[in-house]
Amino acid sequence: MKIIMKFGGSVLNEPSKLNKIIKICASFKNTNGVKNDIVCVVSALSGVTDKILSLTGPIMKGNRDAIKIFVDDMRIIHINLIEETITDKVLRLEAKEIVLGIIDEFQDILDGLVLISEITPRSLDHVLSFGERLSSPIVCYSLRNEKLKSEYYTGKDVGIVTDSNFGEARPLMNTTKLRVNAKLLPLLQQDVIPVITGFIGTDQHGHITTLGRSGSDYTATIIASCINANEVYLWSDVDGLLTADPSIVDNARVLDEISFTEAAEMVLFGAKYIHPRALEPVMDSNIPLKIRNAFNLSHPGTTITHDVKISDNYIKSIIAIRNTALLDVGGGGMVGSPGTAAIIFDTLAKNKVNIMMISQGPSESSISMVLNKADLGKAIASLELKLLGKLIKHLSVQEDVSIVTVVGSGMRGIKGIAGKIFTSVAKENVNVIMIAQGSSELNLAFVVRDVDCDRAVKSLHKEFGLDKTQ
Ligand code: ASP
Ligand code: MG
Repeated sequence: MKIIMKFGGSVLNEPSKLNKIIKICASFKNTNGVKNDIVCVVSALSGVTDKILSLTGPIMKGNRDAIKIFVDDMRIIHINLIEETITDKVLRLEAKEIVLGIIDEFQDILDGLVLISEITPRSLDHVLSFGERLSSPIVCYSLRNEKLKSEYYTGKDVGIVTDSNFGEARPLMNTTKLRVNAKLLPLLQQDVIPVITGFIGTDQHGHITTLGRSGSDYTATIIASCINANEVYLWSDVDGLLTADPSIVDNARVLDEISFTEAAEMVLFGAKYIHPRALEPVMDSNIPLKIRNAFNLSHPGTTITHDVKISDNYIKSIIAIRNTALLDVGGGGMVGSPGTAAIIFDTLAKNKVNIMMISQGPSESSISMVLNKADLGKAIASLELKLLGKLIKHLSVQEDVSIVTVVGSGMRGIKGIAGKIFTSVAKENVNVIMIAQGSSELNLAFVVRDVDCDRAVKSLHKEFGLDKTQ
């Protein structure tokens, strides 16, 4: 079997954790006398990417002291991890030399940027890549320390080619597939475990790109699809995807199995965040994606696949999305005039406001939308400036609302689900402010006041028996 193992930053940042994941790799490499091909994809150590991002301010202010403090911190974190994990003296020395070399290069680049007090999307991607560039040799040498053959590579080295959309690059899959296969297959034939930096690719001009936050998930599934892997494991410190947020519902359960389409509805808001586009490559190639807890191996985790067992429970999860605000725009001028919605959404899009939920009744006299509370100021200002008093006559805002989403592909075509949902929340005396359901019937979402959110989630979790079976 060909297996991709992605290790998140939270399972790499301490010697005891790193030792655990090395043991996991060893046991997957040889399972009951059968040898598997293993490819590891690694994130930066926990917190490192955030720390790199926080350098943009000091760089633009020309603050050299902040850069020095940061580089010293990086040196200590990574060298300590090597000292405490790699027991073989020769390997330890080699690993240290490699990491110190990478840190020197990192420092040179940061010194250059601070000198000109400038950071562009392209140079930011270049500096962001150092988080994973530093963690990958450490994992590789830790595997060697366990007598496993291993080599480390960047996403660029293995041939992940992307567009030049720095910060959110997308892979050019055909080229990537050719290059990744040419690079990885000979290594796997020689029983080498390649350790690849997650998050990083290169554009066609050879500039380093990054795939967006949590991009290591995406790297793992891109590689899986390229080499036609049998399974992808995302190892972190959570058991799997849950029926609800356990801080709201005491008896929330881990789901054994869900479909790709259901997972896509859940991974942005649950306890386990997965890169939004990471499901695409494995979904297209039908490769199961397993979410596992590296520190709770007896737990089977959640498997995301096409072939989900038929079960009685058509609802899989109740999700609460907090920190949202509702914006309602209306006016007689909107009725029957084509292009109104386009103008409103275009104005918001130009101001980088992301809209999470939309609803418009057939009278067309108003459009309601829900957005992240952090975007509210921008949204109101841009609409007021451009459209208020012209296309739209009123603009009202309700802050402190939450979205409750009921997810489950099994509800498609089943009658009475909406009735059950709204009866259940009405019994809890919760007022529903806005509703949206796409025609895919994969989810039904509604907006409530934030103070009512927990009661709504709890009552639905119980109503659909999510604490019991699957
Ligand atoms: N290090 C990157 C991040 O923190 C990528 C990843 O961890 O998946 O977003
Ligand atoms: Mg991460």
